[in-house]
Amino acid sequence: MNFSVVTGDITRLHADAIVNAANNSLLGGGGVDGAIHRAAGPGLLAECRTLGGCRTGECKMTDAYNLPCKKVIHTVGPVWHGGNRNEAELLASCYRGAMELACRNGFGSIAFPCISTGVYGYPARAAAEIAVGTVYDYIKKHESGINVTFCCFKQSDAEIYNSLLDRISVKTV
Ligand code: ADP
Repeated sequence: MNFSVVTGDITRLHADAIVNAANNSLLGGGGVDGAIHRAAGPGLLAECRTLGGCRTGECKMTDAYNLPCKKVIHTVGPVWHGGNRNEAELLASCYRGAMELACRNGFGSIAFPCISTGVYGYPARAAAEIAVGTVYDYIKKHESGINVTFCCFKQSDAEIYNSLLDRISVKTV
């Protein structure tokens, strides 16, 4: 298995797919969503307008326009309401759905931001445990050789991911 953790801007990564933590409209927003739309250029918004939005926990894929990656997988994470509104299952569904799309399309690499942990308020450590656990289970179950990057904007998130991946001994970088 090939997992890596990087700190920085996901829009700079040359992965086959980067994942966008979008909102239900898919028409752009703040945080990583805003950064992706700015770097991709107006073609991305034009394509997103044709998609009819996206439900929480689901994924939709677009071209990447001016981004250096090949495709963008847009997913909508749950807003954190305290943990009793199915947040964990919805967040896991984002990671699982993105892995399914990437593998179905034969991608060799995928990069994730820390979905839901910005404006949507999901606690960082709990979200990282779901991210790592869900992606690890998917790869094991499907015997996938895909390279997965967890792209953390904040150093504190990178430390959490590194400690989780060290614990399951799968990190290669
Ligand atoms: P959400 O609405 O799902 O919480 P946000 O974009 O507000 O989405 O935050 C999700 C995560 O993305 C946060 O951890 C934030 O620090 C991070 N982030 C913001 N900008 C970028 C970027 N350019 N590249 C990677 N991660 C980013």
